[in-house]
Amino acid sequence: RYQSLPYSRVLEIHKENLSPVQTAYFQKPLLLHQGHMEWLFDSEGNRYLDFFSGIVTVSVGHCHPKVTAVAQKQMDRLWHTSSVFFHPSMHEYADKLSALLPEPLKVIFLVNSGSEANDLAMMMARAYSNHTDIISFRGAYHGCSPYTLGLTNVGIYKTQLPSGMGCQSTMCPDIFRGPWGGSYCRDSPVQTVRKCSCSPGPNGQGGRVECHPHITDCDLCMFAADCCQAKEQYIEQFKETLNTSVAKSIAGFFAEPIQGVNGVVQYPKEFLKEAFALVRERGGVCIADEVQTGFGRLGSHFWGFQSHDVLPDIVTMAKGIGNGFPMAAVVTTPEIAKSLAKCLHHFSTFGGNPLACAIGSAVLEVIKEENLQKNSQEVGTYMLLKFAKLRDEFDIIGDVRGKGLMMGIEMVQDKMSRQPLPKTEVNQIHEDCKDMGLLVGRGGNFSQTFRIAPPMCITKLEVDFAFEVFRAALIQHMERRAK
Ligand code: PMP
Repeated sequence: RYQSLPYSRVLEIHKENLSPVQTAYFQKPLLLHQGHMEWLFDSEGNRYLDFFSGIVTVSVGHCHPKVTAVAQKQMDRLWHTSSVFFHPSMHEYADKLSALLPEPLKVIFLVNSGSEANDLAMMMARAYSNHTDIISFRGAYHGCSPYTLGLTNVGIYKTQLPSGMGCQSTMCPDIFRGPWGGSYCRDSPVQTVRKCSCSPGPNGQGGRVECHPHITDCDLCMFAADCCQAKEQYIEQFKETLNTSVAKSIAGFFAEPIQGVNGVVQYPKEFLKEAFALVRERGGVCIADEVQTGFGRLGSHFWGFQSHDVLPDIVTMAKGIGNGFPMAAVVTTPEIAKSLAKCLHHFSTFGGNPLACAIGSAVLEVIKEENLQKNSQEVGTYMLLKFAKLRDEFDIIGDVRGKGLMMGIEMVQDKMSRQPLPKTEVNQIHEDCKDMGLLVGRGGNFSQTFRIAPPMCITKLEVDFAFEVFRAALIQHMERRAK
């Protein structure tokens, strides 16, 4: 423990001198002093299991000893040069990162944040295609800069301020909250049995369960469409956007392989593949935003786009790339990279600085040496299957979904209505988890979904601890509700 300002003074400074529009979790925000791998410690010495990694950012563990040692060594040698001079750590990093991407994704632009990476990707898409319109999903989060805010379409991050000219949003193929589908369609070890919202009729018709392969459609409402047709229904919606977008000429389409801020939303299988083809037919490029899903977090693959069996034209990455150190990258093809030159001389003072690049290299080495992608796969699947059981126990859990170490638990008023559980109730469960030593995140349009994405070094034993805490918080909540 180290001595710092008293908590009351921290609150005063926060109120008077810091941004009033920053979200802080909990009635009494946590004042964190120290971190070690998957653990965090607050100013009073309390220990927390970090199941959110500082918003899916700490990929290999807080203050990982190897990454810290490399950073310290680099700081002794050279912090900064700016890219007008060469330094070896940038070239070493570019060599390592490009080896992890398939052909022809080989040209790297180093920047400092996810928003900046997506800004640049938007410019590339427009420069290359000579078109203007860029499409993103409703529910997407691609950044908070004025340019990327036009693509961001989720909850409190939607803005009334003019932003992102030429940005169009399209229906998110959300198979839990959207009109079509069942989670059988998605790439997840967990499958949802989904009910339509009709009340059962006198002969038992309606309100029935829809689940592949024995689909028992509701005979009363549209909600129980065959889940295998969901992809087609959502593709029809996607085509409608493409055909009606202002210029009818698409510069690009942005997609997160799994939506993070929207509460770990997964699309129907094959959706992205077909969507990418439709965008390319119209002269646009396809951008995978791997800010949350990259670097092995999804377990089965190093990049989220690989799990959809697609090859993007541009990939953007941040967060886990530096294990919490500010750095980001855009990777594209030589052809697209060259097209930028006709309209932009791109420059970033800190992009690709020696310290960030040394840290980025160390992160890649640790992921490999410690088999963290495999750990994401094994421990993530264990976690998903374990937490999915809570769906049967609690009517307020609508869905448990995800892949690898990225999991969403969507809270509802009841399974039949699928109405989001009121924020005050979700807040209380969130606080209770924290009080028992577990930090989880929040997401979704109504902040109704718990987001879980621990550092990739997590163990099954820690998953068991998190499960017991989460279950205890739910029991406590149900008791409160019953009173
Ligand atoms: N893309 C995605 C998918 C994100 O989740 C985020 C951050 N939440 C961003 C882009 C923006 O990253 P940054 O906050 O580093 O600008």
